[in-house]
Amino acid sequence: MRVFTWAMAILGFCLLAFAQSKKADYSEVKMKVLEKAPEQPQKEVTKSEEEWKKELSEQEYQVLRKDGTEPPNSPIYKQFKAQGEGAYFCVGCGAELFSSDTKFDSGSGWPSFYDSNKENIKLDEDYHLGYKRVEIRCQKCDSHLGHVFEGEGYKNPTDKRYCVNGVCLTFVPEKE
Ligand SMILES: [Zn+2]
Repeated sequence: MRVFTWAMAILGFCLLAFAQSKKADYSEVKMKVLEKAPEQPQKEVTKSEEEWKKELSEQEYQVLRKDGTEPPNSPIYKQFKAQGEGAYFCVGCGAELFSSDTKFDSGSGWPSFYDSNKENIKLDEDYHLGYKRVEIRCQKCDSHLGHVFEGEGYKNPTDKRYCVNGVCLTFVPEKE
């Protein structure tokens, strides 16, 4: 019996280690930065799972296509905080999503904006955590971007917080 207990404990440990090793590592991930704005998709962008897997990094694929969430306060967030004026585009399809004009410091550990480029954003209800949240998806390629929260008391013009994963964004700095 004791041998059995030990065997189960070892098996459990191995499974746990395996699960940990499967988690994507965000410690070296950088936000994409381009010189000029990508071409805007004119219609909906559809790709097969295989194409998405090939085009996106492991971390991008987990967030955009599997509704994942990057860890808070990752290096990408620090990079975001240090960025100046510019625009943010979807990593999946290039659609323009946010402007640095609506960026604010929420202290949450994720890139935050108080407004969005509405024509390229769609909002969906999700219950993944057992309660209602409003999910932000890209209107053009249907990639998951983050969630939007309202009425949290931030002193910004909309009282909204578009909480976005940095890996979903491509930054294009404004030219002086
Ligand atoms: Zn997109």
